[in-house]
This record gives sequence, structure tokens and C-alpha cells, in this order.
Amino acid sequence: MKVTEHIANAKGETLFSFEIVPPVKGKNIQDLYDNIDPLMEFKPPFIDVTTSREEYVYIEKNGLLEKKVTRMRPGTVGICASLQYKYNVDTVPHVLCGGFTKEETEYMLVDCQYLGIDNVMALRGDAMKGEQYFSPCEGGHSYAKGLVEQIAALNQGKYLIDELKMEHTPNFCIGVAGYPEKHLEAPSLQNDLKRLKEKVDAGADYVVTQMFFDNKKYFEFVDAARAMGITIPIIPGIKPLAVQKHLRLLPQVFWVNLPEDLIDAVEACPDNKAVRQVGIEWAIQQSKELKDAGVPVLHYYSMGKSSNIKAIAAALF
Ligand code: FAD
Repeated sequence: MKVTEHIANAKGETLFSFEIVPPVKGKNIQDLYDNIDPLMEFKPPFIDVTTSREEYVYIEKNGLLEKKVTRMRPGTVGICASLQYKYNVDTVPHVLCGGFTKEETEYMLVDCQYLGIDNVMALRGDAMKGEQYFSPCEGGHSYAKGLVEQIAALNQGKYLIDELKMEHTPNFCIGVAGYPEKHLEAPSLQNDLKRLKEKVDAGADYVVTQMFFDNKKYFEFVDAARAMGITIPIIPGIKPLAVQKHLRLLPQVFWVNLPEDLIDAVEACPDNKAVRQVGIEWAIQQSKELKDAGVPVLHYYSMGKSSNIKAIAAALF
């Protein structure tokens, strides 16, 4: 079922969902199941599975280091299919511009259709580590908007590769990313919102936001998006802060601000066990306020660790 159908069926009740990251190459999928199992009692209607962009790795060959491009966390579509069958839950594979040609994307989408996956999250991806700016591969999309257009065209039966044409025309529900504190490359929040509107006009069905730690940012973002004519659901993304070094890392990597009260509380912690508890309590307070405001879904970034998400969900659902 589509994410938007789950939202409509909930009739104003806030749903619980989360995002998982595929295991690093060579690791066992059981670790993933062990993380997901404790969260299933909160009945998520859908689970997102991220896609990793390629990375540069250095491999020793004849005593010399050779630079190679590889994907360290493969398997997104396979994991989605396994979760759908194991847990009877809908999944949302993330589809990236970065590192994929349009034709490779079409193959992935056809696989999704064949496996009964009804939702996809269309994203550009970041620059590769060691590169300053994002660059698409030859024959790939430069921005998520192009990817949304491609998926929307496929929903109308317009294939790039005629031989891939399926018996039933796909009907993917398309999610896109939104940034309450603007995307790091955007010249302004208003300009970033215009880009979001372009993705919506191209066919996006719902938005999931980047993490934020001050709900005011989310509420203002939704108001600004509505004022711009964006009417689709805007799902807040919540990340519980978990370790002391997140104080530096999260603003640096995700371009988000941390409220002073949260910084003070984390700095007063004697160890990471205490930080984790502060993160959980902060996320519960954020989630309660968002739920009271009637958000359609509370979507959590698990980053491979579910115990803190379970503590938050237990307080809310
Ligand atoms: P876009 O919407 O293409 O925007 C990127 C930037 O370009 C923005 O600054 C925008 O304002 C600007 N822009 C857009 N169109 C134009 C234009 N025509 N001209 C000039 N500028 C333009 N990354 C992964 O690698 N894997 C994942 O699984 C993943 N999942 C994510 C899930 C969520 C909910 C979020 C919020 C992010 C996720 N990301 C993931 C990170 C994401 O790939 C990065 O934030 C990336 O830098 C931007 O992706 P986007 O889809 O928002 O890009």
C-alpha cells in the first residue's frame, strides 16, 4: 500500500515509522532483523531503507594502493523485499541520482514493481567522500527533480527501455526530502523551498524532512511550504541524539542547529549512557508536541540502533 494511503486510512491519527540502513558489505542480515524486531510491536505501516552512494576505497595491489569506487552498503531492494515478506509491512527503498544512470534506475524500479514495492523515496545523494560538490555519473540525474520526473513518467507507462515494459503499469508513491533548516548547498531557505515545490510539481506525493531538534523550525517550514502551494503531507524526521560527539557531528554533516538547552544538557552528562538518555527524553518531548499538532507520521532515523527508538515509541504509541 502507498504511504499516502496509510496516512489517509489513519484518519488524523499519527503513525509511527522509521528508517534503517543496510548492513555493511559482508555483514549478516540477521543484525538488521534483530534491530527491527523490537520496533514491530508499534505497528509501523512502512519502513524506509536507505541506499548508499559509492565511496572511494583504497585497495593494495602489488604493494601499491589503488583507488577504487565501491558501494559499501548494497542490497536496498533485496532488503525491502525481505522485510515486506517477513513482517508484512510496506517498505520504501531510497532511490538515488548519485552513481546511477537513468537506465540503471529504471531496472531498479522494475525490480521494485515486480517485488510488490509500492513506494520509493527519490533523492539526489551527497557528493562522494573526498569530492567537494555532487556530480552525477554520465547519464544520471543532477537533481532529485529529474528522478521524480522519471518515476512519474514510468507511472504513466513511459519507459526508457521498451523491453522492460511490465504487464501492469507501475503506480509508485513518491517521497522526497525537505529541509526545515535549508539544504546545505541552497543559497536560502526560500530558494530551497522553490526547489521543493518543483519536486512536488514533478509528481512527488509526500515529503520527509531532514532531522531537526527545535520543532519551531518544522512548524515554520510547513507554514512556508503551504504558503508556497505545497499541499502534500510533510512528515517530520526525528533523530535522537545518542553520543557526545553528535554535538559537533550533526551540525557539520546535516547542517542542523542544536538548541542551547539540549547542548547544555549533553555537556553536563558524565558519559554517553547519560547522553543517550538526554537524547531519548528530548526526542520524546519533540514527538509529543508534534503528535499533538497532528503530524501524519513520526519518522525516526534509527541509524542501525533501535533501542533508543523503542524507548521513544513506547512513550508515544
Ligand atoms: P535535491 O532536491 O536535488 O536538492 C539538492 C540541492 O540542489 C538543494 O540545495 C537544492 O536547493 C538544489 N537544487 C535543486 N534543484 C536545483 C536546480 N535546478 N538548480 C540549482 N540547484 C538546485 N542520502 C543518501 O545517499 N542515501 C539515502 O538513502 C538518503 N536518504 C535521505 C532521506 C531523507 C529523508 C533526507 C532528508 C535525506 C536523505 N539523504 C540520503 C541525503 C540526501 O541525499 C542529501 O541531503 C542530498 O545532498 C540532497 O538530496 P535531495 O534529494 O534533497 O536533493
